[in-house]
Amino acid sequence: MTKRNRKDIIFAAIYFHIMNKQLLIIILLIAMVSVTTAQDSNSPYLVVLGTVQDGGYPHPGCDKACCQMFYQGKEKKHYVSSLALIDPITKQRFLFDCTPDFTAQLHNLNAIFPPDSSLFDGIFLTHAHIGHYTGLMYLGKEAMNTKHIVVYLTLDFYEFLDQNGPWSLLQKNDNISLMSLVTGEPFQLNEHITITPFFVPHREEFSKTVGYKISYGSKNIIFIPDIDKWQKWDKDIVQLVKGNDLLFIDGTFYNSNELPGRDMSQIPHPSIEESMTLFKDLSSADKAKIHFIHLNHTNPALIKGSKEQKEVEQNGFHIAQEGEIF
Ligand SMILES: [Zn+2]
Ligand SMILES: [Zn+2]
Ligand SMILES: [Zn+2]
Repeated sequence: MTKRNRKDIIFAAIYFHIMNKQLLIIILLIAMVSVTTAQDSNSPYLVVLGTVQDGGYPHPGCDKACCQMFYQGKEKKHYVSSLALIDPITKQRFLFDCTPDFTAQLHNLNAIFPPDSSLFDGIFLTHAHIGHYTGLMYLGKEAMNTKHIVVYLTLDFYEFLDQNGPWSLLQKNDNISLMSLVTGEPFQLNEHITITPFFVPHREEFSKTVGYKISYGSKNIIFIPDIDKWQKWDKDIVQLVKGNDLLFIDGTFYNSNELPGRDMSQIPHPSIEESMTLFKDLSSADKAKIHFIHLNHTNPALIKGSKEQKEVEQNGFHIAQEGEIF
């Protein structure tokens, strides 16, 4: 072997070693990316199925500009506030509130994550106002005739559905299986997900009202579609924002001038303006967690591109949008 040859071989060996190292780094990087992607794609996630108050948008009988915008084709239809929770590993789907817009919301959800063995692996209800549970009617014999869909709710709401028609028939025919939850106690839904219901003050008609904390991995999400006023609650909403990752909260009215002729004390809600004032000193990261949901048809922040919607976003908050995935 000549000196030259030996030099070439050493050089080739070093070159090969470097190339191998680079190759190894590239392979490791690809592996890391795919592991991260696999983790992300296997993590549970939420889908926003609806964003408006019980009466829907357009609202029955409303001939004001808010709903005329829909009939003139200037604003899309909005569905009543509801969230879906998907667990891709177990292929389970859970619903939070079952609304009168159930048909369309189910269709939209199926396009994102089709049902596996069951239509839903659980439906969590907040309270007995029409926008939050009457979609259950579609599970009965007249429509889907489902089998044993577990409906989670408070004990008083359980008794209301169990003792009053037409809902009692759903339980009797095994379309649904009611299961009461203990407020304040975490409920282990499956290996990955924990749900904690908690009381919120809201006109107690037929049932008390709960909000839900949805926890998986290191993520905690709060869902409070209806509450009378933050000040009436024994919990501090500001601390709740700081201690959780994502919040869908009552944004029914923009401000108190919205329903002229109606006594607003009879339908109390924290207006979006009040909430934004309450949250004004939060960091921008905390503000960005807040998504207002359950907007009334009269709420101008519902209308795409409105001055009020822009104001909410400019202040660092969000208006929940149908189809959003978190
Ligand atoms: Zn409501
Ligand atoms: Zn309207
Ligand atoms: Zn309500």
